[in-house]
Amino acid sequence: MVQFVFASRNKHKAGEVADILSRHLNFEFEILTLDDIGFEGEIIEDGKTFEENAMIKASAAFGKSALPSFADDSGLEVDSLGGAPGIYSARYASKDGFDADDNDNNALLLKNLEDKENRDGQFVAAVAFISKDTSFVTRGEVKGRILHEPQGNGGFGYDPLFFSYEANECFGVLPREEKNKISHRARAFEALAKVLNEKYN
Ligand code: IMP
Repeated sequence: MVQFVFASRNKHKAGEVADILSRHLNFEFEILTLDDIGFEGEIIEDGKTFEENAMIKASAAFGKSALPSFADDSGLEVDSLGGAPGIYSARYASKDGFDADDNDNNALLLKNLEDKENRDGQFVAAVAFISKDTSFVTRGEVKGRILHEPQGNGGFGYDPLFFSYEANECFGVLPREEKNKISHRARAFEALAKVLNEKYN
């Protein structure tokens, strides 16, 4: 049994990741969270890219636990907004001490796209892995366009506004298992699983 630490406190995301890895890893594993390793306090994500932020989080978990650790960082890039919200996706509408939630972020995205013809974009995920003998980052993307109004109430974050070209459906409507087959996070974690299957078998 191999133990890994997933450097996140987002339960929804941890569920998605456990789903994806259990379909792709061909050895027995257990995933611990930051709470499981007694990690207290916040990790300052001050990287300039998804990759840097993912490695900052994975390194923090590895520093505390000395166990092989991984973390993801993800977000939505909209082409006509110069890649925004990008690495600021979670706090897009936050300002002056006001903590934006998903609804605030979605409302601001719709507002900023009001005068734009091109609504294409992609969800991007980077996954960083670090252990005693290696460290690397994988990346996954899924392309789509931003709808004019939310659809469905599945998923989280920008899912109700994201229409996936591949699924031909909005992520807010798509069942979780279907999203987990094609999502940016699925792709980045599948790439991680490929390397781990070689390393731990
Ligand atoms: P982080 O990777 O935890 O920093 O989250 C980044 C933010 O990007 C989330 O809070 C969401 O707003 C957005 N995001 C990332 N992945 C998804 C997704 O699969 N669906 C919807 N929103 C997402």
